[in-house]
Amino acid sequence: MGKIALAIHGGCGVMAKLDLTEEEWAASRVDLGRALKAGWEVLSKGGSALDAVQAAVVVMEDSPHFNAGYGAALNTDGKHELDASIMDGRTLEAGAVTLVSRIRNPIKAARKIMEKGDAILLGGPAADEFARKAGLDMVEPDYFTTPRRIKALAAMKAHAAAGTAAKASESEKHGTVGAVALDGEGHLAAATSTGGYNNKPDGRIGDTPIIGAGTYARDGACAVSGTGKGEYFMRYAVGHEVGARISYLGESLEKAAAKVIQEDLKKHNIGAGLVAVGADGSITAPYNTDGMFRGWVTPEGEFFVGTHGEIFQIQP
Ligand code: ASP
Repeated sequence: MGKIALAIHGGCGVMAKLDLTEEEWAASRVDLGRALKAGWEVLSKGGSALDAVQAAVVVMEDSPHFNAGYGAALNTDGKHELDASIMDGRTLEAGAVTLVSRIRNPIKAARKIMEKGDAILLGGPAADEFARKAGLDMVEPDYFTTPRRIKALAAMKAHAAAGTAAKASESEKHGTVGAVALDGEGHLAAATSTGGYNNKPDGRIGDTPIIGAGTYARDGACAVSGTGKGEYFMRYAVGHEVGARISYLGESLEKAAAKVIQEDLKKHNIGAGLVAVGADGSITAPYNTDGMFRGWVTPEGEFFVGTHGEIFQIQP
């Protein structure tokens, strides 16, 4: 078996360190560790990168600490419209859902769409229905609602009324979860899932279900999962851009990702971050906000998680 590697993010919409107690930060790090463990278990047993990224994302969708699945953002009408996608770097096959509100784990629906091999992106009630017919766990839309998201929606509405939306904290605005992996066969995969941003317009679709923007994987280049103001990830085709810089300019993974996050996107004054893994198992996790929920496992099997500047090595 060749080198394996895994990286995850729980979004760059992280609150200021002082806004949560040390216990609350520790609880989010525990869930990052659980997500890493779920993905690593797959990879270390010789499983595929695709199964690993899905397993890691499912744990974060089920956690209230991140803006995806349970605990997802509310749109301006107080509704959930969830987006997710997955991509196989081996075949360039992909699947995605957008504007769904009844699928407990949207990433599983994205995977089913990919496996069906026809459409790449299904949206709205038809996508919910596709998932139901595929036998996935279905929930009532209010399953996804948590007190933290109700508060964030109220805060964003107050900012909108006062004309101070740009001053809202990153955590009031948005968040996403994602995973990227390299498996023992040398294949790459990426998966991303989100509630979008708080107070987003009804029917708004972000970068997360757009292959090449919020999610991208291509063997020999990299796998990328992004978080941040999705409109800019679409405009720069961020996932593909990182891969193209590696393939065409011969840049390292770290350099290519830093260029996009710290130069291209930063100049628009928007929060942005990503995790990426290279064909050689290299990992990078740049962000331009105060923090980003993130974690990775090195090819040597060492687990690391962080929310702000500090990185913690954890025992799985
Ligand atoms: N990228 C997500 C979106 O625009 C939100 C985020 O990651 O903060 O829907």
